[in-house]
Amino acid sequence: MINLLDFNKAELIRFCEDMGEKPYRARQLLRWIHQSSRTEFMEMSDLAKGFRQKLVESAVVRLPEIVSDHTAGDGTRKWLLSAGAANAVEMVYIPEPNRGTLCVSSQVGCALACSFCSTGRQGFNRNLSVAEIIGQLWWANRLLEAGEDDPFSPDTVRVRADKSEARRPVTNVVMMGMGEPLANFDNLVIALDLMLSDDAYGLSRRRVTVSTSGLIPALDRLRERCPVALAVSLHAPNDALRDVLVPINKKYPIKDLLAACERYLPAAPRDFITFEYVMLKGVNDSVALARELVQLVKNIPCKLNLIPFNGFVGSGYERSDPETISHFRDVLMQAGIVTTVRKTRGDDIAAACGQLAGQVRDKTRRTNRREADQITVAR
Ligand code: SAH
Ligand code: SF4
Repeated sequence: MINLLDFNKAELIRFCEDMGEKPYRARQLLRWIHQSSRTEFMEMSDLAKGFRQKLVESAVVRLPEIVSDHTAGDGTRKWLLSAGAANAVEMVYIPEPNRGTLCVSSQVGCALACSFCSTGRQGFNRNLSVAEIIGQLWWANRLLEAGEDDPFSPDTVRVRADKSEARRPVTNVVMMGMGEPLANFDNLVIALDLMLSDDAYGLSRRRVTVSTSGLIPALDRLRERCPVALAVSLHAPNDALRDVLVPINKKYPIKDLLAACERYLPAAPRDFITFEYVMLKGVNDSVALARELVQLVKNIPCKLNLIPFNGFVGSGYERSDPETISHFRDVLMQAGIVTTVRKTRGDDIAAACGQLAGQVRDKTRRTNRREADQITVAR
């Protein structure tokens, strides 16, 4: 069965045409599925009965299943979504006074193995499908709109229909959940199309951010295909250190990565790039490294986002002290670089940056290798 949740508008138009229907049917379908959160074709009342019947026979709107739902003391909410075969991914909703940000996963695990990242430690199983990526946004809006009520009750759906002009709960999306979004490029961009489409979620390109550890060829393709706001995980000002923290740096070193960022800027919806920098005690947080960072990025329109390290069992790293983070920030600020320190949200339910683990059946056997390494070390 074809899952219509896998299609962007252009693909849905083609699908309708193949069924002998007018292209505007695609728009109606998108609105029913993504704006009214309907999955049953028979409920889509402005579609001709015959077309609805044909849809029932040939297609479905199939969402990933929600496995669990936790709310942190600060209101951050984390859901675990099944990805089949004992795999699961996480998504996190971060409410703020003027916006609601959903942190979306792109892969089951991650193959890039950054040493300080819980997802990276888990190994990699597979890419998420378009339906599994956009399904996170679908679910978050629907569950948050439903509040504590049963999201499936007819009453809830009716209330939602009456408020159709109201702003939906998710106003911003950051591709900062599990996985490297640019390593799942084809599915990512179809999901981005839906996030941006006025017939689906209607988010502006500035409100959708892709965070990458720096896959340069895919970054160039993103610039051409769908340039949304960009965050780049830098974490170190020189290759020697970045090679250790972000191993993909050996393939795509800093100089080439920064050149790709400069190429991206003219297409970007914002006139700066965000560089993320995780603060690891005694590893990358010295004033000398802050100065080196200034020299590195001073000619690129950018903002620095310092992320206090979020721990997980067996990480081997510690979070930098607040004073160290302040000093590091001051060096950058004094050089005229806008620098923010990311607030840690949802860490009491392991929903903070880098703590997302889901359930990953590692296919890369990295976990086995690490255990073998540890055994060797122990001997
Ligand atoms: N794979 C992408 C996006 C997911 S991670 C990337 O690496 O950019 C989102 C951000 O959280 C990245 O900047 C990542 O480096 C950071 N991060 C990973 N582990 C972390 C941890 N334990 N504490 C704080 N930030 C972490
Ligand atoms: Fe993958 Fe990003 Fe984690 Fe690195 S930080 S392992 S790229 S998810």
